Amino acid sequence: MKFGTKVIHAGVTPDPSTGAIMTPIYQTSTYVQAAPGDHQGFEYGRTQNPTRNALQENLAALEGARFGVCFASGMAATDTIMRLLEPGDEVIAASDLYGGTYRLFTKIFERYGLKFHFTDMTDPASIEPLISDKTKMIWIETPSNPMLNIIDIEAVGKIAKAHGVKMCVDNTFASPYLQQPMSLGADIVVHSATKYLNGHSDVIMGAVLCDDEEIHERLCFYQNAVGAVPGPMDCFLTLRGIKTLHLRIEQHCRNGAAIAHFLKDHTAVNQVYWPGFETHNNHAVAARQMRHFGGMVSFSLKKDTLADGVRVMSATKLFALAESLGGVESLIGHPATMTHASIPLEERLKTGVVDSLIRLSVGIEDADDLIADLAQALQH
Ligand SMILES: *Cc1c(COP(=O)(O)O)cnc(C)c1O
Repeated sequence: MKFGTKVIHAGVTPDPSTGAIMTPIYQTSTYVQAAPGDHQGFEYGRTQNPTRNALQENLAALEGARFGVCFASGMAATDTIMRLLEPGDEVIAASDLYGGTYRLFTKIFERYGLKFHFTDMTDPASIEPLISDKTKMIWIETPSNPMLNIIDIEAVGKIAKAHGVKMCVDNTFASPYLQQPMSLGADIVVHSATKYLNGHSDVIMGAVLCDDEEIHERLCFYQNAVGAVPGPMDCFLTLRGIKTLHLRIEQHCRNGAAIAHFLKDHTAVNQVYWPGFETHNNHAVAARQMRHFGGMVSFSLKKDTLADGVRVMSATKLFALAESLGGVESLIGHPATMTHASIPLEERLKTGVVDSLIRLSVGIEDADDLIADLAQALQH
């Protein structure tokens, strides 16, 4: 099956009791047993739910993985992966991770004896010197937030394999339509399904995909033991959102490209960050490992002050000022005062998050209207 068929059919079969073509929302906490232990494979809602099963199978198919496990949020998914490790184990992680992931690693898991090394993985050669026999996992995220840096998944995967280390890829920004890390050597793929997978800004959800049976069993054990499971209604909404993933992402990418080019030529704009430009330092890697270049675009202003950034963002009418990304509607954000506010100024500037940096999650509206909105906001 090709991608556009999988999004609609994988994991989804007509309901056996009624023939309902849509997977029902099995809104139940428990299941009646004929006699103790005599049940139909479902005992308790934390452990199993048919709506969740359908979503898990669907997501596994989209990522080309054998197994899928869903969680109440992307962070719950990441938390569960880290529980595969033991105190004393070390993780090498990309230096420009999603802020919540960085916080979980450094504020929670360091307290439980894990050690994290952060390095700029846009050059995979920075990884090997950090590997020791304690290294158990390499954690990457590409494209990255908000600078849209690109990491060569296949190159990092080769390093991981050579040292017997697991590679985990956060594929939230690309979605499985643009990039499939399992085929590039990933052992584990993680998603905030809150973003492009659901795509309609109405659910918080996470997912983990893998091929290894033992890892899958452990993840299911933790899913049940820890309990950060998604509700059946949210699983239904995410399954429904995924049916148009390929169409939405095509439009996100078309609009993203149009806006990146518009901004590049604008006199008030200093730099535009988008992996589709040939001048992007890892453009060739992006062209190799991604189908298109995505709907996320960041840019800085010639007048590089917090006030100028805030002024432009307050002036857009279609682009809504909000956290998050990947929904059908366009969003605008200011990393310096929003997602990256807790990072010390010097650190923030080092990674390119200057005062006027603006991040766009380009939606699927008409590109002309989005460009007109940015044009009037930049004029103020
Ligand atoms: C949003 C996000 C997360 C966290 O997911 P939640 O669903 O908000 O818990 C993790 N990684 C990336 C790249 C994200 O954008």
